[in-house]
Amino acid sequence: MPGATRKIIHVDMDAFFASIEQRDHPEYRAKPLAVGYSGNRGVVAAASYEARRFGVHSAMSSRLALRRCPGLIFLPPRFEHYRAVSRQIRAIFEEYTDLIEPLSLDEAFLDVSKNHKNMASATRIAQEIKASIRSQTGLTASVGVSFNKFLSKIASDYNKPDGLFVIKPSDAEAFVEKLPIEKFFGVGRVTAERMHRMGIRNGLDLKRLTKAELVASFGKMGHVFYGYARAIDTRAVEAQHLRRSLGTETTFSENLTDNKDLLLCLQELTEELMRRIGKSEFKGRSLSLKIKYEDFKIVSRSYTASGYITESQTLFKIGRKLLQEAEVSKPVRLMGLSLKTAASNRSLWKSNLQLSIPFETFSVESQHS
Ligand SMILES: [Mg+2]
Repeated sequence: MPGATRKIIHVDMDAFFASIEQRDHPEYRAKPLAVGYSGNRGVVAAASYEARRFGVHSAMSSRLALRRCPGLIFLPPRFEHYRAVSRQIRAIFEEYTDLIEPLSLDEAFLDVSKNHKNMASATRIAQEIKASIRSQTGLTASVGVSFNKFLSKIASDYNKPDGLFVIKPSDAEAFVEKLPIEKFFGVGRVTAERMHRMGIRNGLDLKRLTKAELVASFGKMGHVFYGYARAIDTRAVEAQHLRRSLGTETTFSENLTDNKDLLLCLQELTEELMRRIGKSEFKGRSLSLKIKYEDFKIVSRSYTASGYITESQTLFKIGRKLLQEAEVSKPVRLMGLSLKTAASNRSLWKSNLQLSIPFETFSVESQHS
């Protein structure tokens, strides 16, 4: 199988924030617990497995969570604390490899094809990592082992919590054939619905389409899906450099014209962006609002604050001001919000570029923005 020589591990902590709180507060163990604020506008940042049994999950409004689980315990998030635990776990990974790509505070890919301990078995490494995480942090992780990112991520999800699952090259294609399409990387709710309408339910259905058909329906992602259906994913694990920006955007099913709708959307984007900020190490002080009109024209407005923007209210206030400045005049198809470290970065790099900083410096930075 092409590209089957790599050894990739995906580590995903189980209910990370909630498990840390249960570890630190024995009185809440085995109880339904949510990390987040219980107020009317609050959102669940993480839910314990006991809470999940009631249908409570992250990103759900606290109000709905309480309706599903009236005895739900709410604890305010302690992100600094979660970050510290995340660093502790990363130190365990570093005993094996420097090729670590974090996806969030509780998830990372590791390429252990070559590793510091010269171990031949990635499964053995995965077992050791799980054991170290448990002994050093008292927490459990689910770990997937395979020969590419796509499959190792699927594997870590396969028998959560406290799981370890290996997908070998010889089993990979059969495994993918049975895999529901929703489980594929890059298949969100919208793409899944489109695939269902096309009669694609699993990997085998996906495999029946030619590359040309897939590209015609899904653009660039068509190439990616063509590979996935054959258990191929050539992406490398990329050790992450400093992040330059963090953003989120929404395309509307119907174009928006009403200012009230736009503000509501802005509010949702603000909340989603705050959630992402909370899950990462990112801090930024320049906020950009992007608007794409029905004719695909794009306008954007930015504002740079003197300090880091950390409060959801500040984020929303600035966003609202930018929305006013954008003077929306046509039906809006997409709206996006992104936070950058500083507005001047790009122009600074550009002027540096002219002062003979090698081109690579610039492209590396922009890759991760
Ligand atoms: Mg997790």
